[in-house]
Amino acid sequence: MPDAIETLKQWIQESGSIVFFGGAGVSTESGIPDFRSVDGLYNQKYSEPPEEIISHSYFVRWPEKFYRFYKEKMIYPDAKPNDCHLALAKLEQQGKLLAVLTQNIDGLHQKAGSKKVIELHGTTLKNYCMKCGKQFPVEYLLEQDGVPRCDKCGGIVKPDVVLYEESLHDGDMEEAVRLIRKAEMFIVGGTSLTVYPAAGLVEYYQGKKLVLINKSATSYDSYADLVIHDSIGKVFRQCVLQ
Ligand code: ZN
Repeated sequence: MPDAIETLKQWIQESGSIVFFGGAGVSTESGIPDFRSVDGLYNQKYSEPPEEIISHSYFVRWPEKFYRFYKEKMIYPDAKPNDCHLALAKLEQQGKLLAVLTQNIDGLHQKAGSKKVIELHGTTLKNYCMKCGKQFPVEYLLEQDGVPRCDKCGGIVKPDVVLYEESLHDGDMEEAVRLIRKAEMFIVGGTSLTVYPAAGLVEYYQGKKLVLINKSATSYDSYADLVIHDSIGKVFRQCVLQ
């Protein structure tokens, strides 16, 4: 076992209050592609970049096109938690993990059994009528062609996802910062730390065990106490599940 993995394993064993923050890389290992990654197929099918389609103004102006993209590229109801999700749920159960903070919107941490999860960008699993507030599961969206409508009042059903140009849900950021400041150890994984609010969050941590796990280098590598460039699922499997 390489030294860095051995060190992380030891730190996890010693720590009583870990906070984890995860980016898209956590979900890609469950087969959910980062919607920002533009492939050839995408280029042929959609004329605008994903950041534009998944924005509030685009949703208001072209709901049909928004939902075409959203249903095809952002919802993965059959995705399964990977070893990273499972390990974090286990650490919470052992009383070692305070919370999971995530930018992902797939609900996989809860599927793995995690209880305290702050979904900074919301979740595809919850949807609500913009007119009367009625809640709908993701299946309701998928069953309907085009723009999903409320079965009670006919209003548009909107995913509880934070779109570009929208602000984060009230209190989420404050709660995330509070938890990070309280953490003995802060593990950040599956993010290159370039997208808001990821980069900012790292700077709130005041402890001596900042761990970065990412396949490629990040601009915060020199700032961290431990850096591992590897698959996050593999790292957690070796440190927690084995
Ligand atoms: Zn309604």
